Amino acid sequence: MDFAFTPEEERFREQLRAFLAQRLPNGWGDRDFTGEVSAEERAALAHQVSKGLADQRWLALAWPEQYGGAGAGQVQQMIMNEEAAYARMPGGGGAGVAWVGPALMMYGSEEQKRLLLPRIAGGDDTWTTLYSEPGAGSDLAALQTRAIRDGDEYVINGTKIWASGAQEASMGLLAARTDPHAAKHRGLSMFALPMDSAGISIQPIEDMSGGKTLNEVHFENVRIPSENLIGQENRGWYQVAATLDFERSGVAAFSRGKRDIERLVEAAKDERSLMSRNPNARYELADRWIEMQVGFNVAYRIPFMQQQGVQPNHEASVSKLYGSELTQRVAQTGMQLLGPAGQLMPGSPYARLGGAYSRLYLNSVASTITAGTSEVQRNIIAQRGLGLPRG
Ligand SMILES: Cc1cc2nc3c(=O)[nH]c(=O)nc-3n(C[C@H](O)[C@H](O)[C@H](O)COP(=O)(O)OP(=O)(O)OC[C@H]3O[C@@H](n4cnc5c(N)ncnc54)[C@H](O)[C@@H]3O)c2cc1C
Repeated sequence: MDFAFTPEEERFREQLRAFLAQRLPNGWGDRDFTGEVSAEERAALAHQVSKGLADQRWLALAWPEQYGGAGAGQVQQMIMNEEAAYARMPGGGGAGVAWVGPALMMYGSEEQKRLLLPRIAGGDDTWTTLYSEPGAGSDLAALQTRAIRDGDEYVINGTKIWASGAQEASMGLLAARTDPHAAKHRGLSMFALPMDSAGISIQPIEDMSGGKTLNEVHFENVRIPSENLIGQENRGWYQVAATLDFERSGVAAFSRGKRDIERLVEAAKDERSLMSRNPNARYELADRWIEMQVGFNVAYRIPFMQQQGVQPNHEASVSKLYGSELTQRVAQTGMQLLGPAGQLMPGSPYARLGGAYSRLYLNSVASTITAGTSEVQRNIIAQRGLGLPRG
C-alpha cells in the first residue's frame, strides 16, 4: 500500500502554496481566526481569490474541461481543499463546487450542466442549500415546502431555515414536495432556484458567536420554469441523500484542526507557565495530534475511492462525524491550555491568542449539527456501514 502523492500532485501543492502566499495578505490566517477581519474585507478578498482561482481553472479543477474545470483528479481537488483550509482562504467554490456541481453531474440534464456548471467554475454563481425547515431537520423527508406544477412552471410556497450564505447566493439547491399525496420519501424533488426570483424573502439569523451567515428563507408563490427541475420528479429524496455524501466528505476540518493544534503547541512552547499550570495539557495536545493524523487518513480515503469510480457512502459520514467532533475537542483543549483568560472573547485586552479559541469553542458547537447531526451520522454508519437493522 502506497500512501504517497505523485510528483505531479506534490508540484501542484507547491504551486498552490505560492498562489496563496501571493494572494492572501500577511498574517491573514491569524487575523481571520480571531475574527478581526470585517465581513466586507472578507467578502472582497473572497471575490478576488475566487476569480484568481477561476482564471487558472482551479476553482473546480476536478471537473471536466467542457464544464469549466481542468479535468484534474479528485486527489488534486482534495489537495486544493487541504491547502485552502490550512491558510483559511476565503472564497473558493463553496457549496457550488463541493456538492451542487457533483449533484448536477450525476442528475442534471446536459443543458443544465452546460448552463450552470461553468458559472460555478468561473466564480460567477454562488449557491446556498435549501433543505432544512422549522419542522424538518434530521427527519428531512418530512419537509413541507411545496413545488406544485402549473403548466410550464412550478409554484413554490413554504419556509426554509438555516440556509448558509443565502443572503449572498445567486442560486439555491432546493428540495421541495412535488407530490403531497405520496409517501413522504417519494414525493420530493430537487430544483435549481435563482435567488432573485420574485416572492423570495430572506431573514438573517445571528448565531451564538455573533456570525450572520445563517438565514430563514420564505417562498410566496415563487414561480420557476419547469426546466429547473434537477433529475427526476419525486426522486428528490434519493438525490438529496447522495448529494449530502459530497457535503459530508472533506479534508477541511482536519487541515484547519492541524493549524489550530500547531498554534496551541507554539503557545505552549513560548509560555512555559501554560504547561506548568495545566500538566494534563501535554497529553491532550498529543492526543489531538494523533487524532488529526487519523482524520487525514479517513478524509484521504474518499478522493482515492472517487478516483477509482466508487462513490462514498457511509465513508462520508465517518469523515464528517470524526472531523466535527475533533474540531470540538481541539477547541476544548485550547480552552484548557489557555486557562480562564482563554475564555475571553476577541476584543478583550486580556484575551489569550486574540480570543481565537473561545471563538472556536462557540463556533464548533454547530459543526456536529450542520449537514446532519452526529446521531444521524452514527445511525448511517451503523446501518449502511455495519449492516445493523434500523434503530
Ligand atoms: C451552522 C449550520 C449551518 C447549516 N446550514 C444549512 C444549510 O445551508 N442548508 C440547510 O438546509 N440546512 C442547514 N443547516 C441545518 C442542519 O442540517 C440541521 O440543523 C440538522 O440537520 C439538524 O436538524 P434540526 O436542527 O432540525 O434538529 P433536529 O432534527 O430537531 O434534532 C434535534 C436533536 O435530536 C436528535 N435526533 C433527531 N432525530 C434523531 C434520530 N433519528 N436518532 C437519534 N437522534 C436524533 C438530533 O441528533 C439532535 O440532537 C445548518 C445547521 C447549522 C448548525
